[in-house]
Amino acid sequence: TDHIDGALALSWMNTFTEDFHAAQQALTDLDRQAGDGDFGTNIASALRKVVAELPTADDATFASVFTATANGFLATGGTSGPLFGMWFRAVSRSTATEGTDTDLLAQGVAAGLAKVQTLGGASVGDNTMIDALAPASQALLDASTGGLTVDKALTSAARAARAGAASTADLLAARGRASYVGDLALGVEDPGAVTVAIFFEAGAAALSA
Ligand code: ADP
Ligand code: MG
Ligand code: MG
Repeated sequence: TDHIDGALALSWMNTFTEDFHAAQQALTDLDRQAGDGDFGTNIASALRKVVAELPTADDATFASVFTATANGFLATGGTSGPLFGMWFRAVSRSTATEGTDTDLLAQGVAAGLAKVQTLGGASVGDNTMIDALAPASQALLDASTGGLTVDKALTSAARAARAGAASTADLLAARGRASYVGDLALGVEDPGAVTVAIFFEAGAAALSA
């Protein structure tokens, strides 16, 4: 596949929602160990709003699906809701430019990463969603340079995000609530980073189906 049309974008978001719900309890447990235990509830609440805002199959475009997703997350509390919301918004706006879908996705994800870093002040190694987003973004930029189709690009991004999420188990948090508990968070993966991995894995699965 070299094009994410509206139907594929919807399928990506529906797959993400299902996969998130399957992992919700485990993600909440991670936030309970290293934060305040509301992560699963926050994201589930965002996804309910997303589902209510998603366009119908007839109206769906990549941009409209990601705009609805951004709006659902932006209307949600917690630290992760607005940060994911701003990230999705940057992805939705990338489609305005020229290029292959791999180029567009790579540019949007990179712009969203920059936005989240400006807002939250976290860098790679601070034990946040950035530890999965940054390697996923780099994988997409490499895929764009290498001329990969968007399904292959997403498979590469998913692998990079999952490795980045795994790396957070060994990190002490410098940002967010996990920074309040010090080395109690050692051995605990960051739930935001794991959710980024789930998101890209859902994209790879939806485009390869
Ligand atoms: P809260 O800590 O307000 O309860 P959530 O539980 O909704 O927020 O989200 C926690 C997640 O937010 C963390 O797993 C982490 O990935 C992400 N996060 C927290 N602070 C930051 C930050 N400054 N920059 C990027 N991501 C962050
Ligand atoms: Mg929390
Ligand atoms: Mg909270």
